[in-house]
Amino acid sequence: MDSVKKSTEIHPDERRIILKYADQPDYDISIDCYMRNGGYDVLKKAVAERKPEELCQEVMDSQVRGRGGAGFPAGMKWKFLDRKSGKPIYLICNADESEPGTFKDRQIIHKDPHQLIEGMMLTAFATGTAQAFIYIREEMPLGAEILEAAIEEARANNFLGDNILGSGYSCDLVVHRGAAAYICGEETGLIESLEGKRAYPRIKPPYFPAALGLYMCPTIVNNVETLCNVKHIVEMSGKEYAKIGKPGNTGTRIWCLSGMVKNPGYYELENGQFTYGDLIYKIGGGLRDGRALQAVIPGGSSSKVWRSGERFVGKLRDGTEFDWGIEDVPLDFDGPMAAGSMSGSGGVVVIDDSVDIVEVLANINAFYAHESCGQCTPCREGSLWMKKVTTRMANGGAREEDADLLASIGDQIAGRTVCAHGEACAWPTQSFIAKFRDKFIDKAKQDPEEAKSRSFRMV
Ligand code: SF4
Repeated sequence: MDSVKKSTEIHPDERRIILKYADQPDYDISIDCYMRNGGYDVLKKAVAERKPEELCQEVMDSQVRGRGGAGFPAGMKWKFLDRKSGKPIYLICNADESEPGTFKDRQIIHKDPHQLIEGMMLTAFATGTAQAFIYIREEMPLGAEILEAAIEEARANNFLGDNILGSGYSCDLVVHRGAAAYICGEETGLIESLEGKRAYPRIKPPYFPAALGLYMCPTIVNNVETLCNVKHIVEMSGKEYAKIGKPGNTGTRIWCLSGMVKNPGYYELENGQFTYGDLIYKIGGGLRDGRALQAVIPGGSSSKVWRSGERFVGKLRDGTEFDWGIEDVPLDFDGPMAAGSMSGSGGVVVIDDSVDIVEVLANINAFYAHESCGQCTPCREGSLWMKKVTTRMANGGAREEDADLLASIGDQIAGRTVCAHGEACAWPTQSFIAKFRDKFIDKAKQDPEEAKSRSFRMV
């Protein structure tokens, strides 16, 4: 199809900062190419001329929020670091990207690995880190190989290791391959895994990583895209960075658009300058011919679904009243929250009217049941029950009471677990039932043989 976007094509509405060089035909991942384009200049200047606390202040001034899912301000996270404990400080890059619908960090790692390393070493210098790690999932073997090779190049040029660029500051960086479990993306589960244990998330409080993280030492865990932003914040200053986007939603974000749109892909856009309608219809090319929108999952599969035609009415934090359809919701952190969901990891999934909505939930439930670590009963048992019920429904065994049954299971998980995976399990079911109750009731009226003939399969 002519209209389909090539994977390397850059949309004119994009403002590429993190992906500035990715997809440029003459750009490669070598350190020579990176340095020819100004790479490591920010680190050289920072370790020679600036104090670590100045860099922390730049990140605070930038108002940059974490790009991994929670959207917590990165500067605040750094501020919570227990610097008085006398213990070593650790920095971990969370490269365990695995939220269904999200595929942005992979692009950065595959196409510009030195940008991540420079961002990490700036973060390490700012926070007084003794040792840094990149935790990457086993399902990204190419990314791990690229990073290992890039780290060797950076070490050979003394951008990491002992006495970095003669500054007297030393910090090494290693790649750690995880065994590919979704829960390792949760920062305390990741830390347990990095310590060589089963990735059981820790209870917060007391185990906030900034005080009691890796080996019970103060630890910063930041996402790939967040750490890349640090380089640009230090380069342009936090105050200049804060002029990009809008207050509280600064900088750019890489959105991953998938599902039934003509031009799926990743797009780096200035925060708050676009809407979901812009992303789906203008940038994403709209739906396939002859199809209508049925639903949008706005921020990765754990975010609450929106149904086509619904309206969101309320008041923003600044007091502004709004009355939005899906297409009007601002593409930033606060817009989807105001509309009852979240931007999460930036994975926008578009579902058209050709799709059986019960099957969508059955697939999501199968994923979260598989990925529960099993530590808490509501998550372990509840996720499995939700998977069983929705799979039975999808396979022709739906009953009218299943909608209420599913809603009640979801209600008994959320807020009753050690980590946010409980909510990740419950929110899809709760929101799908709340928004598409009629479709779940109708499923019971469907001819079971017809449902079976659809040969529902987990994907
Ligand atoms: Fe494990 Fe689920 Fe409990 Fe999180 S909520 S600790 S994933 S059982």
